[in-house]
Amino acid sequence: MSQKIRNLLDRPGSAPISPFERVATQAGTREERIRQLTDLPRPPVDDLPEFCAIVREAADRTLKMRPFDVQLVGALALMSGRVAEMATGEGKTLSGAIAAAGYALRGQRVHVISVNDYLARRDAEWMGPLYEALGVSVGWISQDSTPEERREAYAKDVTYASVSEIGFDVLRDRMATDPADVIVPEPGVALVDEADSVLVDEARVPLVLAGAADPGVDAPEAAEVVRRLSRGYHYELDDQGRNVSLTAKGIDAVEKALGDINLYESPEVLTQVNLALHAHALLSRDVDYLVRDGRIHLVSQSRGRVATLQRWPDGLQAAVEAKEALPASETGEILDSITIQGLVRRYPQICGMTGTAVAVEDQFREFYDLKVAVIPSNKPCVRVDEPDRVFGTVADKDRALVEEITAVHATGRPILIGTLDVSESERLSGKLRANGLDCVVLNAKNDAEEAAIIAEAGARSSITVSTQMAGRGTDIRLGEGVGELGGLYVIGSGRHASSRLDDQLRGRAGRQGDPGGSVFFVSLEDDLITHYAPDEQLPAPDSDGVVRHKRATYIVAHAQRVAEGAHMEIHRNTWRYTRLLERQRELVLQQRDKVLRGDAGADALAASSAERWQELSADVDDAVLRAVAREIVLFHLDRGWTEHLGFMADVREGIHLRSLGHRLVPIDEFNREAVAAYRRLMDEVERRSVETFQTATITSEGIDALESGLTRPTATWTYLVQDNPFGDAFDRALKHLAPRDRRR
Ligand code: ADP
Ligand code: MG
Repeated sequence: MSQKIRNLLDRPGSAPISPFERVATQAGTREERIRQLTDLPRPPVDDLPEFCAIVREAADRTLKMRPFDVQLVGALALMSGRVAEMATGEGKTLSGAIAAAGYALRGQRVHVISVNDYLARRDAEWMGPLYEALGVSVGWISQDSTPEERREAYAKDVTYASVSEIGFDVLRDRMATDPADVIVPEPGVALVDEADSVLVDEARVPLVLAGAADPGVDAPEAAEVVRRLSRGYHYELDDQGRNVSLTAKGIDAVEKALGDINLYESPEVLTQVNLALHAHALLSRDVDYLVRDGRIHLVSQSRGRVATLQRWPDGLQAAVEAKEALPASETGEILDSITIQGLVRRYPQICGMTGTAVAVEDQFREFYDLKVAVIPSNKPCVRVDEPDRVFGTVADKDRALVEEITAVHATGRPILIGTLDVSESERLSGKLRANGLDCVVLNAKNDAEEAAIIAEAGARSSITVSTQMAGRGTDIRLGEGVGELGGLYVIGSGRHASSRLDDQLRGRAGRQGDPGGSVFFVSLEDDLITHYAPDEQLPAPDSDGVVRHKRATYIVAHAQRVAEGAHMEIHRNTWRYTRLLERQRELVLQQRDKVLRGDAGADALAASSAERWQELSADVDDAVLRAVAREIVLFHLDRGWTEHLGFMADVREGIHLRSLGHRLVPIDEFNREAVAAYRRLMDEVERRSVETFQTATITSEGIDALESGLTRPTATWTYLVQDNPFGDAFDRALKHLAPRDRRR
């Protein structure tokens, strides 16, 4: 193909890949020569064709995988800071490792960000021999890694870890009072696997570090009251079982039990009752938490095992403790938080890879300044993607699903059913079993176990029911003779909130030129349609329940576009509200670093309290005095930041403006408040530091932290805000008030 035509074929709006393709071709001409070498030289990073040729040979020798040209092209795209779009099964793990090694050989430190702990470890170990051959050191981190193991892993040239582990390490580091305690080194390169999922879908979720603040308050009374309420009469659950609310009967019963109070005039009691009810009705012992050693241990929903050092937001934690008749543990407060977007943007160099990048090209550009490079597949994709089958009702859809699965299963062809959530998986698998069809169900509860199961989803006659997150990153190979049956058949039990997620599901079939097929079953009663296209005139189904009118396809596509737009807007809005705070966070941390690693604290106090400094210098060793100054300033800086975060959260929720009748604080109002509050914060840190320095007892031994009020949290824990069942406290307060208001 002539170069001109190739250039034309580069996707408009995407980064051109023809330069990378030329390098890959040149690498091919050097292959024979390199293969003759007994010992491979260190790959030169300033000669890319030579680099590729040597790395290819190294991969072939160590991993028994000879990188395809397209994998080299993908690696080169990564090495020039792009998001490489490569379909599922194209071998992104190897491309990523080649690029990571390239960056490392250029002298940059690389974090390969995986979607979960299991994949971080798998990829680091799988690619380990290649890295070793190239003289690049590699390590990985998981939730269970100790601080020493983490420090060791971060000291490697390339470190594999999930985004939340890195984020929590970064958050914990910001509390260090000794430079030797800092764990995460200066950020270099972030190479993000499943980039759309991490950088777009999860980017709204803040990572939170909380610390013990006060001894907890027991709340046994509310627990006792709700224990006697009955479901359906005193309280109701919503369909998903995610929310619970008192009925009018329930409100009356609670008010009576608490001594004829009016709940709506005692908002604190109301909150306690709501928390107790949540703990009582929505959280089950041994499912959501375990009781061990007289303490509550959370079970992480996404991982299905005890989440160490994680807990619920305070009120709920206390409510669960009361439910189990345990003493209340200390309450906490948010010490710091960071969004995934803020975390990733700390890296001077970002790149990523995923099967579905083009659909979120705009977001990559807007939020990360990243361009997408579309890498062609190694072999043409021959998967047959059938048009959606649309039904009038969920019941008809389910019936048709079971029929289709029964018919296809009879041929021996393996089937993977992708569901939208866990409850749907349970419902469908129940129906299949009732019809005598054996199936395995994956709910993203145990990544390692599910990887082993999904790897078998291509075996003859297997039926696998799986949510979007389950078994991610695991290759599905076809079993003996399955190719002749048509390969893996993927059935979506509903369209996702974005076509990108639909495409990820389809991509499970037809890898590396394998045969395969995909189809989505949709009903006009699906949430997607009822939420995002509520006003559309719906065409009527035929007598068999199938909607054949061509308007149906239009409505489904339309609802999905609306949903995509709404999510984009939420993302944009979150970023608007966090951008300034994250900038302020950086500034505070720069200050903090100067105090932690240098003498900025001492210099400031010596200047502002020259007399006191002189006086103390007479008996206190200079090094001790400097350490005291560091301790004082660090304490007030951290304390001040925690208060700043709390204040800004209140501003955002409109608490400070509620009297003015505002509900949502407009962004410019928010930013004005944030700038003013930040200025006050800095003044306040200085004022408090000087005050402590002037009044505290400081001796040649140092400062008495307890007496001077410089006590730090005795324990810290972390959580993802999506684990937070309460969302916005103000929203919930409003929601709980609603029924009563309507009654009046
Ligand atoms: P992706 O992350 O793009 O979905 P993976 O990195 O998981 O793909 O690789 C998919 C499968 O392809 C793996 O089983 C891997 O062993 C295989 N593979 C990747 N690259 C090659 C290669 N160059 N030669 C042979 N097999 C390969
Ligand atoms: Mg992968």
